[in-house]
Amino acid sequence: MQNQCVILAGGLGTRMRPVTQTMPKSMLPAAGKPFVHYQLEWLAAQGVSSVVFCIGYRGNAIREFVGDGHAWGLSVAYSDEGNQLLGTAGALRLALENGLLAETFAVLYGDSFLNISLPALRARFEESAMPALMAVLRNDNQWDHSNVIYEGDSGRVVLYDKTGRDPRSGWMHYIDYGVSMFTRAVIARHVPAGEASDLAPLLHRLSLEGRLAGFEATERFYEVGSPQGMHDFEQYLQSQPQAPAVHTARREHVTGILGGGLAGLTVAAHLNTESEVLESSDRPGGHCQSVVEEGFTYDAGGPHIMFSRNQQTLDFMVSLLGGNVYKGRRNNKVYYKDRYVKYPFENGLFDLDPQDRFECLYHYIKNDHPTPKNFKEWMYHTFGTGLTEKYLLPYNEKIWNVAADQMSLDWVEGRVPRPPVEDVIKAAVGVNTEGYTHQLHFFYPERGGIEALPQGMAARVKNIQTGFEISRVQKTNDGWLVGNGNNGNDERHYEQIVSTIPLHEMANIVEGVPQEIKQCVKALRYNSLFTVTIGLASEKLPDYSAIYVPDPKVPFHRLSFPGLFSPHNVPQGQSLVQAEITANEGDGFWELDAAEVLRRVISGLEDMGLVKRSDICYSKVIRTKYGYVVQDFAYRQSLEKAKNYFAGLGISLCGRGAEFEYINMDQCIERGIKVANTLNQVNANPANPNLPGPELALAGH
Ligand SMILES: Cc1cc2nc3c(=O)[nH]c(=O)nc-3n(C[C@H](O)[C@H](O)[C@H](O)COP(=O)(O)OP(=O)(O)OC[C@H]3O[C@@H](n4cnc5c(N)ncnc54)[C@H](O)[C@@H]3O)c2cc1C
Repeated sequence: MQNQCVILAGGLGTRMRPVTQTMPKSMLPAAGKPFVHYQLEWLAAQGVSSVVFCIGYRGNAIREFVGDGHAWGLSVAYSDEGNQLLGTAGALRLALENGLLAETFAVLYGDSFLNISLPALRARFEESAMPALMAVLRNDNQWDHSNVIYEGDSGRVVLYDKTGRDPRSGWMHYIDYGVSMFTRAVIARHVPAGEASDLAPLLHRLSLEGRLAGFEATERFYEVGSPQGMHDFEQYLQSQPQAPAVHTARREHVTGILGGGLAGLTVAAHLNTESEVLESSDRPGGHCQSVVEEGFTYDAGGPHIMFSRNQQTLDFMVSLLGGNVYKGRRNNKVYYKDRYVKYPFENGLFDLDPQDRFECLYHYIKNDHPTPKNFKEWMYHTFGTGLTEKYLLPYNEKIWNVAADQMSLDWVEGRVPRPPVEDVIKAAVGVNTEGYTHQLHFFYPERGGIEALPQGMAARVKNIQTGFEISRVQKTNDGWLVGNGNNGNDERHYEQIVSTIPLHEMANIVEGVPQEIKQCVKALRYNSLFTVTIGLASEKLPDYSAIYVPDPKVPFHRLSFPGLFSPHNVPQGQSLVQAEITANEGDGFWELDAAEVLRRVISGLEDMGLVKRSDICYSKVIRTKYGYVVQDFAYRQSLEKAKNYFAGLGISLCGRGAEFEYINMDQCIERGIKVANTLNQVNANPANPNLPGPELALAGH
């Protein structure tokens, strides 16, 4: 006989919003893995061989993650209600219509985790010869209102009533435990096809008819349908004995992926072989983490909009949001001499006073600056004296926190386009033109902030270990040993590793890195970043998406307005502004405490006339250590040496901090896919000498 379990996973998960705006409850991450993983692991351990998922709301995410279930040793099928949710009984009827139900089967909910013996439950059901069985727990109103009268002697549920209307309610001491068993026949007989209906009335009726068997559970259950429930479940997971530490060369997964930002998740989602992502934070996402607090939603490490020159990549990114998407149009300004000038500055000349307008236009056209050798000279050569001195030079020196003549210029080509002269003339005389058109329209998650994007990718990844602070990476005879700094005994062994963590961290944790390489990595300059987010109890902020502030006297270089990225980021009647400030360890600003940074930002906003102190109802200061890659003259050579060293070891580097390149989310995804494809080829044909080995799998090269 087939040992089957049906999982009802079609619900909307309203109590877990906004996370469930983008994924069904089954996919909610619990200790770094989708919840469904634990359910399936448990079912397989309980001797279940076949699982039917009744899916509906965002069900594809489950389908994509679980697939045919072979990863858990299960055979999995799907019954899809689409958008027309049929209720718990209606979903079973649809599964029956789809020919998926065994003669008898267990049913549990997509958000519950149980501590019960399924073989014992099944044995009791078969012995009872009744058409249905309900597991019950003595509750005495502790978890929720008791709703069952259970007669232990006869093993029967005498009354099941959720409504509380039965006069015998006072005698109820038990509660429905969340797993039942049914015969296919009882569903065929009592549940109408094509109509929405729930199991509760059917179970109520069977209890009144004396045809509902019972089975008493003794341990509490967990459900992840509410934030408290998820918290309890994660505590439970933590309390479980850990797998013994690995001191021998035990191979758990073929590939270890260091870091669970967008790049790491992308690699894991595209590898054909087993892999595991190790992430130090309490959740994946890295630079793309968002804050959802007091009704406000914003990106923790600075505003992140989705755009790409590559339409295919952009389409893929949007698809990861599964409909949770808002399309916006840029409305950026440059704040110059108390005016808001259209962005990019060269397309906004008409907003300047006539003298400034003339100087920008004249020097743009009459420009005999020689071929540039550094970034400063490049600005003069490309844009002329007016545009450079009024905006480009002060703004860039502010954001890069370094003199522009100390920066190389190989990174600007392609990133900062030279506008056609016609456009600059048109802009000066007041004809509308647009620059940086690949960013003119952008996408952003409607709810949940940019973190919804890595969440969408994480939903495709089976093994994510969060809270794993990698402190040691060591080459062994047959692979790699990776150790956890938070828990000295926790070690993993992999055949190959991909690193997406910052190069500066790698140089310290990989065993045996020579001093010369450490020096090269040290020479690679990066900027750190403060993001200061301020919520106002009014809607007085302008409807700009961002404001660039070149004035060196103002601490921040950019302001952005999360409410413009998605209307759901800000509660009605309120508004939100985020300031970004570049700083570096040792420069004095980085050493300021959060209160002082906040004070300076508020003063700057007041001076610009944007904020009244009395309107502020929320504030938060966040530090990001590895913000921007600074390309000075040492950059190319130092980077090449460091990358060659890690390539020689056989470590693939992928992502912004790991490759130490100024790349955006779209490129992190592209490079992640590329690394995964290379490793897939290598792993599929280990003996083929013509394929690049993992040591040649440096992304983007
Ligand atoms: C201010 C700012 C604004 C940006 N705006 C945009 C934008 O508008 N659009 C856009 O497309 N891109 C934008 N980006 C770029 C984008 O954030 C990055 O390209 C992308 O998020 C990088 O992903 P990643 O996986 O390479 O790195 P990360 O996100 O940094 O991931 C690395 C992961 O490794 C983990 N880690 C580090 N050390 C360890 C360790 N020892 N053990 C375990 N785990 C570790 C980290 O916690 C992190 O999760 C912006 C970046 C910044 C800084």
